[in-house]
Order: sequence, then C-alpha cells, then structure tokens
Amino acid sequence: MIRSEGGADVLIDTYGRVATDLRVSLTDRCNLRCTYCMPEEGLQWLAKPDLLTDDEIVRLIGIAVTSLGIEEVRFTGGEPLLRPGLVGIVERVAALEPRPRMSLTTNGIGLKRTATALKAAGLDRVNVSLDTLRPDVFKTLTRRDRHKDVLEGLEAARDAGLTPVKVNSVLLPDLNADEAPDLLAWAVEHGYELRFIEQMPLDAQHGWKREGMVTAGDILASLRTRFALTEEDAGERGSAPAERWLVDGGPHRVGVIASVTRPFCAACDRTRLTADGQIRTCLFAREETDLRAALRSGAPDEEIARIWRLAMWGKKAGSGLDDPSFLQPDRPMSSIGG
Ligand code: SAM
Ligand code: SF4
Repeated sequence: MIRSEGGADVLIDTYGRVATDLRVSLTDRCNLRCTYCMPEEGLQWLAKPDLLTDDEIVRLIGIAVTSLGIEEVRFTGGEPLLRPGLVGIVERVAALEPRPRMSLTTNGIGLKRTATALKAAGLDRVNVSLDTLRPDVFKTLTRRDRHKDVLEGLEAARDAGLTPVKVNSVLLPDLNADEAPDLLAWAVEHGYELRFIEQMPLDAQHGWKREGMVTAGDILASLRTRFALTEEDAGERGSAPAERWLVDGGPHRVGVIASVTRPFCAACDRTRLTADGQIRTCLFAREETDLRAALRSGAPDEEIARIWRLAMWGKKAGSGLDDPSFLQPDRPMSSIGG
C-alpha cells in the first residue's frame, strides 16, 4: 500500500499519478451566465435534497485529508460564494489535521463583503475569473452588468491578504480575443497573477468548436507584441495546469492553461467532488462514483475511503479530447466544478 508523507493511503491510479488536490463544487448555481459556460436560461439546477449538506462536505474533505493524502482543497462551483455556509465550511476544514491548503475559484461578485471573513476563517487564496476590462464586453459575455462588482471583489481579496490573487481569463474570438496584452498590463499594475484558460468543450449548450477557439499559441503571440516572455523551467511547473512565463524579465508571471492544445494529463494530480456528492476523476470523465449514497446509507469512513480509492484507480490516461470518438460529458462545467 502506498502512503503519503503524512502516513495516509493515497489516491493513486493505474498510471502512477497520485491525486493530492481536491476540487469541491459547492453549488451548481451562479449569478452570471458566461456564454462559454451556461445558457441564458433553462439550465436544470440540482435538486436541494441531492446537494451535500455542510456536514457531509466537511466529513468527505476530512476523509480525503486524513485517509487519502489530499493536501490542497479548492472550492468552486457554480459560484461558491452563493453557498450560505461557505465561511463555516472553510473554518471547519481549516481545523482538520493535517490542515490542507485552501483556495476558492470565484467570479468575485460578493467578495467585497466576504473576503475578510473568509481570510479569518482560514482561506489561503482566491482565483477570480475576469475575462475583460471593458464593462460592455463583460455584459455581453456574462449576460449581467456586474463588472464593477468583480473589480471591487478583486481589490477586497488583495486587501484581505488572500494572496497571491490569481485572475483567470477565457478569450473568445470576436469578443475579447484582442484583450490579452491589456489584461496582462492591468494584472501587472495591480499585482494579480493572470492565467489564460483555453476554452474547453464543457458548456451546457454544447456549442464549443475547436476551429473557432483562441489557442495558447494565439495568446502568446498576442502577448509578445507588447511583452518579452521567458518560459519558466519545466521543473518549476510540477503538476500545475498552467505553463508560466516571466514577464519582461520578472518578477511578474503570466500563465496559460492549454487543456486543449497542450494537455497536461500525464501530470494530473486532481480529484473532484460535485455538489451532489459524486467523485469525478477528470473534468472530461463520463463516469462518476456516488459517494453520497454511501454517506447516506451510513457507511463508515474506511468504506468511503475505499470507494474513493477505487474510483481513482479507474482514472483514464487523458481527457480524450483528441480522440475522434470524444464525447462531451453530460454535466456542464458549472455542475462539475471548474
Ligand atoms: N463561478 C466561478 C468562476 O467563474 O470562477 C467558479 C466556477 S467556473 C466553472 C471556474 C472556471 O472555469 C472559471 O475561471 C471559468 O472561466 C472557467 N470556465 C467555465 N467554462 C469554461 C469553458 N467552457 N472553458 C474553459 N474555462 C471555462
Ligand atoms: Fe458562473 Fe463561473 Fe460559469 Fe461564469 S464561469 S457562468 S461565473 S460558474
């Protein structure tokens, strides 16, 4: 049996990858409607009784940390700030032994109100998603007029010490694809670490097209019209999804998460828990393993840990995106947890 440094059994798969990073979706609901993620309306929400309770979430994270070698927990969604019990969940996870590193991926709306409480509860950092500096483009892209709220949320996160504050941007052709250098100049000025994410086929509407997408190559070419980029040593990347470049000699960096054109599946260290208690071994997996049923039938911690290990053992080698038979998962990104 393989054990982590902390002595816990680990989540290893048949390719020898060990998952130490757990992404927990706290809700599938959201107050934005980003076009690459959700339709304007008509998306079926998870039913309330199917959602894990705060106690169930904390118990599962506890099992992951104490028995399965998880070292890092990232809360996401949907929009995790919409989960009423978020601060309490963070506080309880911070009290676990060993204490995992904790971060939050959010659209930033509401952070102005909650950043200080989240920091006090034990959250280490945030990733805030912002795709454009132009309020009109923001409104078209997210179908909501909340640009100012995101900027204020970002500042509140930085002031609260939820640092380094990372900013995630997705570029879409004919909308914000020309903004890469402006976004980077703005991030450098404000001390945020910017990462571009290639658009992936995970939208609820199944409207993604490879031909139309803005690739890592396009993004880097656009950035190089204004900045000198020096690639970070491969050794420094580890299992991080972002490849990073020093901007104008550093110390500022910019990252690109090129899941489509430069997949990094061989170094993947992630396992995912959906808001309704399903384990997913990959964003693009078509299979899930039901932990909620085990939890609610009274299974002891060891049994839940065994089911989780078995699920990870079945993790596929890659996303399958390049396979002609690739089928987009039924669940959209907002319900898997991005
Ligand atoms: N609502 C939060 C937010 O927007 O940060 C957390 C959930 S969101 C699903 C997590 C991340 O996934 C965001 O950075 C978002 O831009 C990204 N995302 C959503 N749909 C995507 C897609 N089809 N391709 C690439 N990234 C996507
Ligand atoms: Fe909401 Fe995040 Fe999806 Fe945008 S990307 S619709 S903010 S869940």
